Amino acid sequence: YTQAKALVFSRFGEPADVLSVHQHSISPTLPDGSVLIRALAVPVNPADVNTIQGTYGVKPKFSPLLGTAEPSVIPGNEGCFEVVSVGNGVKGLKPGDWVIPATTGFGTLRTHALVEDAEKKLMKVGGERGKEGLTPLQVATVSVNPCSAYRMLRDYVDLIKLSVDGFAKGTASGGAWFLQNGANSGVGRAAIQLGKLWGLRSINVVRERNTPEETEALKKELKELGATVVVTETEFLDRSFTQRLKDEWTNGGKDPLMLGLNCVGGKNAAQIVRSLSPKGVMVTYGGMSRQSFPFPTGPQIFKRLRFEGFWLSAWGEENPEEKKRMINEILEMMREGKFKAAPAQEVVWNWDTEEKVLKDAVQGTLEGFRSGKGVFVF
Ligand code: NDP
Repeated sequence: YTQAKALVFSRFGEPADVLSVHQHSISPTLPDGSVLIRALAVPVNPADVNTIQGTYGVKPKFSPLLGTAEPSVIPGNEGCFEVVSVGNGVKGLKPGDWVIPATTGFGTLRTHALVEDAEKKLMKVGGERGKEGLTPLQVATVSVNPCSAYRMLRDYVDLIKLSVDGFAKGTASGGAWFLQNGANSGVGRAAIQLGKLWGLRSINVVRERNTPEETEALKKELKELGATVVVTETEFLDRSFTQRLKDEWTNGGKDPLMLGLNCVGGKNAAQIVRSLSPKGVMVTYGGMSRQSFPFPTGPQIFKRLRFEGFWLSAWGEENPEEKKRMINEILEMMREGKFKAAPAQEVVWNWDTEEKVLKDAVQGTLEGFRSGKGVFVF
């Protein structure tokens, strides 16, 4: 028997209050079509905490199947797992393969999982080359943040065409621009890198750190990733910003700013609205400030702006094949050293790790000013 542990919750609330560790054992005889997997690396994303709090867009169903005293749910949507053993009839997976959940809501905050109908629920990592040249951290964090950045840069404004047209006409001073707040988030760092690889230019907004030196260090770090411009939230919210945008970066306003990615909300989002060029699009995908934003009416009307909401889970359900293709494309970029995983704060989860350490790691996710995303390593 395999001894396994999982973080579970039976009611909504703060992770530190409602999570507990559930221990169970998994029989060595696997049902047909099933696969036993063990966790190698599992990140905790903001959405996982919102799910535990009961504030996320879908509410999970508490289930008696885990054998907990009360019906419960395992949180977690992504992670890198290794196949330990496979049941009869499983053709596409073998022990040693690395897999990731094929859909959201898998419940990844656990040491092991017995996965029924495994070939549907799991995606083998990396196509023909499998896990070669990849790390568990890269694989564990590929399917949410980089995929979100990829879609938002490609599906709302054709920035690549805009760049090509601009160069062809000789009107552009460089690749097409996009602007984003929350630029040091996992999604933001992915957008910076993909943008750079696709020949785009980016204006990136980050919150000031504790000291000017730390702020400069963060700006430098993002520029090394491929950011064209990095400004602090204070610089961004200053009245002078729209003029600077024209004078310093967009060629007197001749290079349009057609896409803004909004991770934060509040005043910061309102400033994106003011910064966009006519017919520009603001895509909202997060609300880290927990503030909704005043839509300035004038710019909305006179610039004929578009406002869109992005939700990866829904996109993935509608486009399962494209999602797999995109994941392998990004993994290939990682393998070639063209794309870096976001910084992680690793938390070791072994048999002796105390429950409190695991719960605290989840609780800390939304704290802000972190050195990296919390990732359990096993
Ligand atoms: P990370 O954990 O990697 O980063 C968190 C980011 O939020 C940091 O940039 C942090 O900045 C910022 N932040 C934290 N608190 C605040 C605050 N009070 N005000 C302003 N900024 C704050 O996050 P992810 O990249 O995983 O996710 C970022 C957002 O995107 C989340 O809201 C998440 O839910 C959302 N998301 C949405 C998806 C979708 O499909 N809609 C898909 C993926 C993510 P600092 O360092 O200054 O604290």
